[in-house]
Amino acid sequence: MRRVLARSRDGKSLDDAEAVTLLHARGDDLDTLLGYASRVRDSGLESAGRPGVITYSRKVFIPLTRLCQDRCAYCTFVTVPHRLDSLYLEPDEVVAIARQGAELGCKEALFTLGDKPELRWKQAREWLSRAATTTRCPMSARWRSGCWKRPDCCRT
Ligand code: SF4
Repeated sequence: MRRVLARSRDGKSLDDAEAVTLLHARGDDLDTLLGYASRVRDSGLESAGRPGVITYSRKVFIPLTRLCQDRCAYCTFVTVPHRLDSLYLEPDEVVAIARQGAELGCKEALFTLGDKPELRWKQAREWLSRAATTTRCPMSARWRSGCWKRPDCCRT
């Protein structure tokens, strides 16, 4: 750990094994690592001409569905069909969420569709089939058009 921290401090490139070592930093080692990371961030901001300025974008999260193949196991909102009252949001629900986000100062909407949930879930296939489509893209267009047609909800 000490050797890898020293390499980080000196701005040396780290290989995979060294990066994994840093994932185990705790206590003082972690504080030291965070200090080096802050230094890299600050120097990047300075060289970009905006020292000390960290920007962010407020966005409203709109999960068109919470179904997914869940192969990446990345997010925590993914669930299974029997836990959902409805598998996909209806356009009016999308608009309601977007409107709520706008009221809270969001400037962007982040739509998530899962990773082809229809490949894993029969219920998703059936839902999409009932919606007269076999992929999510036309549905996404339907949701988007339902939302964009209401400028009071998605102002930027
Ligand atoms: S919704 Fe996206 S991030 Fe979440 S598990 Fe599926 S692919 Fe991963």
